[in-house]
Amino acid sequence: MKRLLVLGAGTAGTMVVNTLRPRLDPREWHIQIVDQDAAHHYQPGYLFIPFGTYTPDEVVRPRSRFIPDGVELVTGQIDEVRPDAREVGLADGAVLDYDQLVIATGVTPRPDQTPGMLGPEWRRSIFDFYTLGGAVALRDALAGWQGGRLVVHITELPMKCPVAPLEFAFLADAHLRRRGLRDRVELVFVTPLDGAFTKPIASARLGGMLEKRGIALETDFMVERVELDTRTLVSYDEREIPFDLLVTTPVNMGADFVARSGLGDELNCVPVDRHTLLSTRYDTIFAVGDAADLPTSKAGSTAHFSIELFADNFVRHIRGEDMTEAFDGHANCFVEAGDGKALLLDFNYDTQPLPGKYPLPVVGPFSLLDASTVNHWGKHAFKWAYWNVLLPGRRLPLPARMTMAGKIHEEVAR
Ligand SMILES: Cc1cc2nc3c(=O)[nH]c(=O)nc-3n(C[C@H](O)[C@H](O)[C@H](O)COP(=O)(O)OP(=O)(O)OC[C@H]3O[C@@H](n4cnc5c(N)ncnc54)[C@H](O)[C@@H]3O)c2cc1C
Repeated sequence: MKRLLVLGAGTAGTMVVNTLRPRLDPREWHIQIVDQDAAHHYQPGYLFIPFGTYTPDEVVRPRSRFIPDGVELVTGQIDEVRPDAREVGLADGAVLDYDQLVIATGVTPRPDQTPGMLGPEWRRSIFDFYTLGGAVALRDALAGWQGGRLVVHITELPMKCPVAPLEFAFLADAHLRRRGLRDRVELVFVTPLDGAFTKPIASARLGGMLEKRGIALETDFMVERVELDTRTLVSYDEREIPFDLLVTTPVNMGADFVARSGLGDELNCVPVDRHTLLSTRYDTIFAVGDAADLPTSKAGSTAHFSIELFADNFVRHIRGEDMTEAFDGHANCFVEAGDGKALLLDFNYDTQPLPGKYPLPVVGPFSLLDASTVNHWGKHAFKWAYWNVLLPGRRLPLPARMTMAGKIHEEVAR
């Protein structure tokens, strides 16, 4: 019996076992999936918790519900991968053997990586919303907040869902207006990028939206430390940004066992071929989802599109055939704009987010790079699609690779 071992039962790992179980003969392949705990979190829902739109119990379900028959779910802390022995050690001493390994352990926010961030002010005046605990603490802090300087901050890229801090800023602006507090709040968006977003056309549109809402934009800010006495972010070039309430996105890093196993880059992500997701060092190891060092957005949508192609390649790989499907970095992200509207971005390794319609030319129904009510419904429908279509490995009626259908070409859009 051959063994497929999947590390991490989050978004990507769960999709992998659901997609591969029907394709691998159960008499030939035993499949195990390991995670450190029993609860699956719908992380995109964290964004809405600080504003009371979602409750914590709406974003958490038991992992076991999404693991198909014929796959063994193991609960345990992964300690080390030993690629030469083709085995994985768990913290409790158990050892799991494999013929093929898929690393899907994602990335997590690491406030400990920035001096002063994880100090006495953590969850008092410094918050994140990239964890459930952080989002709930921020909800409670915002409820009693009477105004001041609210700084929304990105520490470093790459990070998962790089548009989420912008969404937070837009939603905070709308939320504070609704509460009649907006004129008592100075809103500042601080980023290490040279604009509101990574790619020029989207950056210009999103930057314009910040300006229209009176949200100040501080660019090229590489934070070095947080000064707690004065509640100030300090950059490597000694620029200072004071805050009353800091909503930060800490450095995002892959799991520590990836580094301990000698499999990671400086952020503990696994170097892979960007088209096949096969490790650049071992032909028995793949990395999927946020754990891989792919040069595209770390997002559930990326995981979904890539795993469709990965599954076809995986089946060829174990038969000793060439992997012929090439993932193109396709990602799409709804961006909440506040007041019941959202934008949609659709892009890949080579094509930046462009304006137009998606998925169908002219009729859409979604608008690219343009705020609309339909996009906002799409963002909220994504929660249903996540639990019922994406995680169970069902196909969305959308092509895995990005298409130019409906998009306005770059030369025209500029
Ligand atoms: C605030 C926020 C908003 C977002 N919004 C969107 C959005 O709108 N659209 C979108 O597409 N994506 C969005 N994302 C990103 C999306 O949630 C992630 O990209 C996606 O969950 C990545 O899936 P993954 O399987 O790679 O990692 P995860 O889903 O994080 O799963 C990793 C799993 O590995 C397990 N694990 C890690 N280390 C160990 C260990 N040592 N031992 C055992 N188990 C371990 C973890 O417990 C976890 O279950 C958002 C994320 C956040 C935080």
